Amino acid sequence: MSDIGLYLHFPFCVRKCAYCDFLSFPATEEVKRIYAAALIREIRGYARAAKGHTVSTVFLGGGTPSIMPARQMKAIFQALYDSFEILPGAEITMEMNPGTVNESNLTFVFDHVNRVSLGAQSGNDAELLALGRIHTRRDVERSVQLLKDSGVKNLNLDLMLGIPGQTAEEWRSTLRWAIDLKPEHISAYSLQVEDGTEFRRLQKAGKLHLPDEDTEREMAALTVEMLEGSGYRQYEFSNYAKEGFLCRHNVRYWKRGDYLGLGLGASSLFEGSRWHNTRNLEHYFEHSSDPGQIVREMEQLDRRTEIEEAMFLGLRMSEGIEDAEFEARYGLSVFSLYGEIIERQIAEGVLLREGNRIFLSPRGIEVSNVVLADYLLD
Ligand code: SF4
Repeated sequence: MSDIGLYLHFPFCVRKCAYCDFLSFPATEEVKRIYAAALIREIRGYARAAKGHTVSTVFLGGGTPSIMPARQMKAIFQALYDSFEILPGAEITMEMNPGTVNESNLTFVFDHVNRVSLGAQSGNDAELLALGRIHTRRDVERSVQLLKDSGVKNLNLDLMLGIPGQTAEEWRSTLRWAIDLKPEHISAYSLQVEDGTEFRRLQKAGKLHLPDEDTEREMAALTVEMLEGSGYRQYEFSNYAKEGFLCRHNVRYWKRGDYLGLGLGASSLFEGSRWHNTRNLEHYFEHSSDPGQIVREMEQLDRRTEIEEAMFLGLRMSEGIEDAEFEARYGLSVFSLYGEIIERQIAEGVLLREGNRIFLSPRGIEVSNVVLADYLLD
């Protein structure tokens, strides 16, 4: 029996945020209903392939899963339980937008979900407006209270730093506010301006005023200092958790564990292959029951790609890479493969070694792009 994770994509949002390049768009109730039916067909289409696998993490992401009607979500879960062996105690995460938390989806959460990831982003209403979010600071506070009252005991808040016009002091206030809301987990991502977004358009027109590099560095330092000082341990570049509350599904991604992505555009890594589903909604609706028809860019990963990915992803985590684990998986010691690079990086102070484990130093995290590029194999 091998253990896998499931990712389910819900591509619908009330409206598009100014920085967002995820596969997401507004949809009518009718389109959501058709999507739920297509997703159920895809899930049931995997029933045979799922034999011999257990599932210990499920992640409902988007888009905004919390704008799906609870009745349809319940039917989707029925299909999941019919088709996959979901272990008791499996981590089941649902992303929720604070502008969409309501009686109906709270009931669904209570019955099926044990971890909620709330897209808070900022505790400052002007920043939320600049980001194009549909909610206010007060909506986040109200959602946290409702979720806690409904029995959610594992809550993540997503925060964003580097928002246009944001100062280090404003970021400090957002962190203080988030800590006071007492979530078990906080993700703090730097804003990236992506092609095809409203922010890219504003940037090209010279109308996007991002914090400068010094301010960004100050914000990054404040994040570590304030979160670690409040009992959250940084276990990945952007992720902090109270003891026992790491996101098991995301740890699976960083350790290159197997997962199946279900739904429009969802990516999978399964038995040495990587692929993603079609991004064409009509095509997905028509062919979702037959993976052969919706799978795109299927790639059988060679050893070299697997090793590079293992280095890039493993060094994102504060526990880093343990040699025996690496060798058992990839057939080579990390020290025999990268000995010179490891020695040089330790001397430069960007990499640390404890026994047979290597991990990035705080300085290494700051310049991770350069540090990780050394692990590309020629
Ligand atoms: S809510 Fe999330 S997925 Fe939807 S548009 Fe905003 S950032 Fe994108």
